Amino acid sequence: MGANIFVLCGAGISQESGISTFRDQSGLWENHSIEDVASPEGFMRNPELVHQFYNLRRRQLKSVIPNKAHYALANFQKIFSGKFLLVTQNVDDLHERAGSCNVLHMHGQLRQALCTSCKFQIYYEEDLSLSTECEKYKKKGSMRPDIVWFGEVPYFLDECDEFLQTTDLFISIGTSGSVYPAAGFIQMLNPKARSIELNLCRTEISSFFSETRFGKASEIVPKTLNEVIEGYK
Ligand SMILES: [Zn+2]
Repeated sequence: MGANIFVLCGAGISQESGISTFRDQSGLWENHSIEDVASPEGFMRNPELVHQFYNLRRRQLKSVIPNKAHYALANFQKIFSGKFLLVTQNVDDLHERAGSCNVLHMHGQLRQALCTSCKFQIYYEEDLSLSTECEKYKKKGSMRPDIVWFGEVPYFLDECDEFLQTTDLFISIGTSGSVYPAAGFIQMLNPKARSIELNLCRTEISSFFSETRFGKASEIVPKTLNEVIEGYK
């Protein structure tokens, strides 16, 4: 069981829990343009609107729960004895609430705030505003949602890059295949590795995978992970 497994998750895994995604065709996220609510420029233009937008998303987390796919991953992490890296593009905390640990959130997290002046990051469940104080420097006005916006560099790219070189099995779950750099991971994978794409339907990068399975995440994720764990017994 000395294998290395890399799991990359995208919006598709949280969709069945009722989390709305902004990477859809419309270019809108809950009726706001992406430029307004998901870019540093948008935040500079209208920080109140951006705070209000993410405050709502953060509050909505209280009304959603993890689904079978999140639980299957958390369970897999507990019983698999090799090295396991779980990377998500999602900003919700459904993996953690299902019991996963050491989840790398490439695009940040709703329940985390970032200070724009000192880069201090803090777990944050409440509403953010211009009067939220940075706990480190006791200054107001510098706290923002710790979300990686368009034009910003995703987190943990070095960790991903390094792990991809030694991965034996790469599993991509519910990722659109069009959001880079994550969409490019499959092409950075060491050539000997096995790769499985789990998704609702084919994506632009399906042909790069050695196997593809299509269906609801809550069904195909538990089934596939069971097979994988059996294969390593
Ligand atoms: Zn600060």
